[in-house]
This record gives sequence, structure tokens and C-alpha cells, in this order.
Amino acid sequence: MPVRVTVWNEFVHEKKNPAVAEIYPEGIHETIAQALNRAGNIAARCAWLDQPEHGLTDEVLADTDVLIWWGHTAHHRVEDRIVERVHGRVLAGMGIIVLHSGHHAKIFKKLMGTSCNLKWREADDREILWITKPNHPILAGIDDHFVLPSEEMYGEYFDVPEPLETILISNFTGGEVFRSGLTYTRGAGRIFYFRPGHETYPTFHDANVQRIIQNACHWAAPVAGGTVPVGCPNPKKGWV
Ligand code: ZN
Repeated sequence: MPVRVTVWNEFVHEKKNPAVAEIYPEGIHETIAQALNRAGNIAARCAWLDQPEHGLTDEVLADTDVLIWWGHTAHHRVEDRIVERVHGRVLAGMGIIVLHSGHHAKIFKKLMGTSCNLKWREADDREILWITKPNHPILAGIDDHFVLPSEEMYGEYFDVPEPLETILISNFTGGEVFRSGLTYTRGAGRIFYFRPGHETYPTFHDANVQRIIQNACHWAAPVAGGTVPVGCPNPKKGWV
């Protein structure tokens, strides 16, 4: 069975900024989803902010193993009731991959419980991403490092809880460093935060970036046949 992925994008910059539309004519979500569908064993579809319920209905989420999230300028427009719904699904076992400026998305901050603030600079920094966890399934097929010629800089301190694993760190032209690949669990759900992906750069066309997102979908997907506890049962007698 392929991993069922929903790629969510606020889909705002692409409609307002011609420079972004040139790189992502159909939206960042379509570029990511098409790469995932080409990869095999993943069935990806898209959802975005302006759809009813932001495209994240109960039916869509019930049919989603892994949700990918890209947002930046419209975090405040995401309705709290939809955030609650996504949060509940993550606790029940749905995987979530939060990309780049999604560090300030309501859903990510709720999952982390911290400000998720960081340093940033838009100045065409060169980014080198170094692997710090060889053999991690999310890094399958990736060399010990790869380079993105131009990206927005994100720098420490990144105000997130200590992760389960730090699998990538970035170094930028300006000398800053950043923890760029972080894993967490919340309830039964697996979370991967992946740093690159500023909208004015062709980052989601990069083969290494696509491979990492593809690998992360397989890593974050709930285990087939797994059962997730629901509610807070009060058994009247013991099991034996
Ligand atoms: Zn950005």
C-alpha cells in the first residue's frame, strides 16, 4: 500500500509574487506532490488555505498517513478548529512534516509548546547541510553533506524542545549554524521538521531535498495495522 500523503500549502506567495510564481507556477505544494508521486510507493495529493476547511476535512485527514505543511505569511488565517483537528490526528498516529517557515505555524507551535523563534536573514546565503545521524532512514541516499547555492539563513538559537534526534545541521555563508533536521514524537504521531524551502529559491526542485522529504514520508507514516488508544477508558475489572 502506498503511503497516503497530503501536501498542504498556504498558497499565497505564488499568487502575489511573480518571482515565486516563476519558480513554482502551480504552487510549492504541486512541486512537492509531483516529486513524491514520481518517487513511487507514495500517493500524494494537495490541500491549501483557501479551500473549505483549508482542504483538511475529517475525511481528508482520515485518508492521510502523513501531512506535509508549508506556511509563512498566512499562519494567522488558519482556523483554530482546523489546528485542533490536525493536532488530534497527529496524537492518534498521523505523521507530519513541517517545512521551513512552518516553524511558526499554529500546528507546529502547538506540537512543540515553545515560541519556535529563530534568527533569519534573506541575503542569498549559501547553505551547506551536514548529516549528523548516518544511516537514519530519512537520510537514505544522501551523501555526508549537500549544498543549496542560495537560501534564506536560519540561525540558532531555535526555540524548540530538545528533539528525539538531530539528523542535519546547516552552515551558512554568514557563519551561522542551525539544526535543520529534527525528529519528535507526540502521542502516536511522528514529526519531522526540515529547514530549507524559502519561496524565492528553487529549493523544492533540488534532488536531495526531494529525496529527504520522500524518505521522511515513509519514516513518519503510521505502522500498518497499528492501533492507537482512543479516549480514557475506565475498565471495571482487570484483564484476568
Ligand atoms: Zn522563508
